[in-house]
Amino acid sequence: MRTYAELSPTPRTILTPGPVEVDPRVLRALSYPILGQFDPEFTALMNETMEMLRGLFRTENNWAYPVDGTSRSGIEAVLNSLIEPGDRVLVPIYGRFGHLLHEIAERCGAEVSTIETEWGTVFDPEEVIAAIKRTKPQIVAIVHGETSTGRMQPLEDIGRTCRELDILLVVDAVATIGGVPVETDAWHLDAVIGGTQKCLSVPSGMSPITYNDRAERKVLARKRVERGIRPPGCVEPEVPRRPIQSNYLDLAQLQDYWSPARLNHHTEMTSMLYGLREGLRILHAEGLEARFARHRLHESALVAGLTAMGLALYGDPACKMPVVACVTIPEGIDGESVRSMLLELFSIEIASSFGPLKGKIWRIGTMGYSCSRKNVLHFLGAFEAVLLRHGVKLPAGAALQAALDVYSEAR
Ligand SMILES: *Cc1c(COP(=O)(O)O)cnc(C)c1O
Repeated sequence: MRTYAELSPTPRTILTPGPVEVDPRVLRALSYPILGQFDPEFTALMNETMEMLRGLFRTENNWAYPVDGTSRSGIEAVLNSLIEPGDRVLVPIYGRFGHLLHEIAERCGAEVSTIETEWGTVFDPEEVIAAIKRTKPQIVAIVHGETSTGRMQPLEDIGRTCRELDILLVVDAVATIGGVPVETDAWHLDAVIGGTQKCLSVPSGMSPITYNDRAERKVLARKRVERGIRPPGCVEPEVPRRPIQSNYLDLAQLQDYWSPARLNHHTEMTSMLYGLREGLRILHAEGLEARFARHRLHESALVAGLTAMGLALYGDPACKMPVVACVTIPEGIDGESVRSMLLELFSIEIASSFGPLKGKIWRIGTMGYSCSRKNVLHFLGAFEAVLLRHGVKLPAGAALQAALDVYSEAR
């Protein structure tokens, strides 16, 4: 049997839209001893995590807990539990992750209507409202921050309309949660899905979600009836409802496990929960407002640096996501060669993009623990050197000076 080298991943500067660097305190939490999932010491950690998630999502919802699996497990859990086959679902699409919502809603048996707007922009809320009035959906599913294009969709007006018309609004806030405000209650969002590996800076592997009573009513109405007896808490529906298809992603069962009843479901990922709890503890110690301000500051410094290099930022600046900057790859430059030189020589990772934007833009994330002055300055210096090496004509030295100006003004 051959021997394998000891695991020793190279420390990287990760400036992608996820996964990003993780606070060493979170990494340490992942290595603590295992607790049994019904150990009172562990269930107390679960309850604290729910409390901290309510604060993060800015909600009074009863339900705020993580689904085990990457962010799309949260998306699938919510959509599988809320969409009954035949339901009308409207998905406004302005990038790759809108297409993911479309695909999952279709797999759930929904009659999906989509509207699309050009990549690099978002919807005028009135366009979405008009589509809602035209297609009369039971559910609207939309992305808050589209990492594929770096755009952020305003949700307040859409939320108000959905509430007035008694439509459930499901929001993918995977990339924004913990980096920019996500106002679940104030914006009337019925179910919100977050991610760990982006602005929360916890490894990929859990998806925090929250949903309100309106969403819960639908979940309970579709709860599987065991041996002909409707479980307590189930409203007897007038028309028999189609049960939730998935076991692993059944919110009715997951919430029973996260409730004081602690009904057995899956084996909880106890180590991941340590990591998430520590990530949330760190987030609340920093304070949400301070955290949002930190993301805005480093965004300004990064954008000032990129602009000073003479690079063009991709997309409509009015709806730019504060935690992702998209740069148009200059004419004649091989974007992938730039990325590999950054990684190999400087140990810095930035991202390319998908579909129509592949080879057209670089995406630079400033999320969570990766969002720091050290990283922004380190990146700008390295990026300039690599671009010069690739023959891009740019005013050498200007990027770092522009970023330093932003930092000194912020003092
Ligand atoms: C990153 C991202 C996801 C992906 O989820 P994973 O399953 O964790 O890969 C979903 N939605 C958006 C908007 C994202 O940015």
